[in-house]
Amino acid sequence: MHNELTIGVNLREELQKYFGHSEFRGSQEEVVKNILMGKDTFVIMPTGAGKSLCYQLPAIISEGTAVVISPLIALMKNQVDQLKGYGINAHFLNSTLNKTESNKVKKEVLSGKTKLLYVAPESLGKEENLVFFRKVNISFLAIDEAHCISEWGHDFRPEYRRIKSIAKELGELPIIALTATATLKVQQDIIRNLGMEDAKLFKSSFRRFNLFYEIRPKTNSKKQLITFINSFKGKVGVIYCSSRKKVEEIAEFLKVNGINASPYHAGMESAERIKNQEDFLHDRVNVIVATIAFGMGIDKPDVRFVIHYDAPKSLEGYYQETGRAGRDGLESKCLFFYSYADILKLEKFSKDKPVTERDNAIALLGEVTSYAESSLCRTRQLLHYFGEDLGEDCGFCDNCKNPKESFEGKDDVKLALETIQQTGQRFGIKHLVDVIRGSANQYVLSYNHNELAVYAKGKDKDAIYWTSVIRQVLINQYLEKDIEEYGVLKLTPKGESFIEKPVSIKLFKDHEYGDLSDDELPTITEKQHDKVLFDLLIQLRNKEAQKHELPPYAVFQEPSLEEMATTYPTTNTSLLTINGVGQGKAKKFGKPFIELIDKYVKENNITIFEDVLVKSTVKKSKSKIQLIQLIDRKMDLEEIAESVGSSYDDLLNEIEIICHSGTKLDIDYYVEAVVGDKEDEIYDYFMEAETDDVDEALDDLGDEFTEEEVRLVRIKFLSEVAN
Ligand code: ADP
Ligand code: ZN
Repeated sequence: MHNELTIGVNLREELQKYFGHSEFRGSQEEVVKNILMGKDTFVIMPTGAGKSLCYQLPAIISEGTAVVISPLIALMKNQVDQLKGYGINAHFLNSTLNKTESNKVKKEVLSGKTKLLYVAPESLGKEENLVFFRKVNISFLAIDEAHCISEWGHDFRPEYRRIKSIAKELGELPIIALTATATLKVQQDIIRNLGMEDAKLFKSSFRRFNLFYEIRPKTNSKKQLITFINSFKGKVGVIYCSSRKKVEEIAEFLKVNGINASPYHAGMESAERIKNQEDFLHDRVNVIVATIAFGMGIDKPDVRFVIHYDAPKSLEGYYQETGRAGRDGLESKCLFFYSYADILKLEKFSKDKPVTERDNAIALLGEVTSYAESSLCRTRQLLHYFGEDLGEDCGFCDNCKNPKESFEGKDDVKLALETIQQTGQRFGIKHLVDVIRGSANQYVLSYNHNELAVYAKGKDKDAIYWTSVIRQVLINQYLEKDIEEYGVLKLTPKGESFIEKPVSIKLFKDHEYGDLSDDELPTITEKQHDKVLFDLLIQLRNKEAQKHELPPYAVFQEPSLEEMATTYPTTNTSLLTINGVGQGKAKKFGKPFIELIDKYVKENNITIFEDVLVKSTVKKSKSKIQLIQLIDRKMDLEEIAESVGSSYDDLLNEIEIICHSGTKLDIDYYVEAVVGDKEDEIYDYFMEAETDDVDEALDDLGDEFTEEEVRLVRIKFLSEVAN
């Protein structure tokens, strides 16, 4: 192997030669050297820091083939293609290859030219492959996404547990393990499972200076979503949802509200999924709404926001997902709509899992809750979670920008720390709080903790309060988590000296978000519409009506105009978000209205989208689509009512709603059959009338017309002239 001096000189040249980079980033060079010296190496770097190069460069320089184990089968081809693009001989082996293809790869590797071979963990373990690997001259083993080895990580893969024994069979190979997220616990798991206690650890800071973390209660979240996205004025972002169904729903909802969004989840046709991803990468769509299946290996530098619409399952996942924002270093936002109801839902999902797995899942969710509800600096909390002490607040997160009320915590911190001391530093937060508050449960009694001096000393304050105090002193390094036993808290030297000599300490109240998730559509806001604009719109409408020789209401109804005078639509897309405006109406009448509003907004310096009226997706529901289809097939309306199981009257109501929302319906065939000769008179009436009110029409038209007839003709009329 190489000695330090010679590799130091050549490495930069090699870096330039193969990858075209002039400098190493961070600790890359040290890592490369360490591997080239044949030593075990453990790399923890945040996503985007340049981990791949850490094993790719030494693989190219070394004799033989480096075997790279990665769970991300979908990305292997990409990675290999990229390397091939640099002129490097690289291949992959995974379940996507057929027999012939994998035999070809094996032959190529055995010929000795291949520098990197990517392998899925399940392929590594196959007997036939083992026979092959024994024949390969392997330079070293790289284990990518090494956190998959730990049950305490956010992406446990049981096959990863077999890597060590397989590696052993292949001889004592140097190992490099790499991951973008690891708590101390996960780090320890990786080291133990891979038997790399002597490995040199290269850990970079996870701090991202350009990400603004914000948490909002999940109330009125759909409306908030639109306002938030619109404030980015067409820049791109990702929204994570917890289920495929939710992904579809939110994507549809955004589209209806004029936002250029596409869904992405594993349940979609792969062609469509790939198309949506490509559209996003090439800025043809602004927002991708996705399950966490989206984003691995996606390196789009200008993602300006990442929204967690539903709660993440762990802070590891959350940090990784938010980390996809602002890769270019420019300011970007990470917004999380938090509700405890979401956490409970996720807890329920893990109900049927094996006990340990379930307990782990619940513990990870507990960290998410604690993070969300805390008033401490977000960045500081996140980094603390990954074992990094920021030492100060970031000044650039919601909690830093809007600090909660603080209070003197000296006495209570002392009591909390003493409780930990007196119970022998062997317990988790729940038990500690029970002791402080004087609970007499079995557990407390069985340890005789009711006999301690601290017992019940804090009974005047509630459990939420004490939990918050303990979490805050943990972040402030008075306590540390025991790595061996999850949840157990121990005093640090700083904590011990606090007990000896307490000092003033500022604590903050937690946020109180409430338990409810309000996923529902907001009721239309009470916000007053712009009266000046409204009058202008009315004038314009009347003018346009004359021009088209139509009654004014057939152009736009007043509620639509009021809405326009509230949300100021200045584009065709935003006009379509107005209730009562469909494609047809927008096309027929929209242009002068948009122009008027645009001029008005500019002249009066109005910031649009300050408040949003949210258009619901309900009108596109399945039953409505079905109804439209049946009408297209010229089916008898009474028969339709029967076949969809509703009354004739309800059916007409439904049709009227569809019609009022701007969809053209051709019920001519039915009107002709039912109304007959009387049609013209009714039609003419609506043409002259001031409103389309049915009762008024019945009054004016007289006894010989039935309500049914009037309603039917009105539908026809609105469809023909207004939509
Ligand atoms: P990670 O695996 O840590 O998420 P990657 O290995 O995908 O990160 O690297 C992220 C980006 O940084 C890639 O576009 C890569 O080309 C680039 N990169 C890596 N190392 C360097 C370097 N030394 N100089 C310039 N760019 C680099
Ligand atoms: Zn902060």
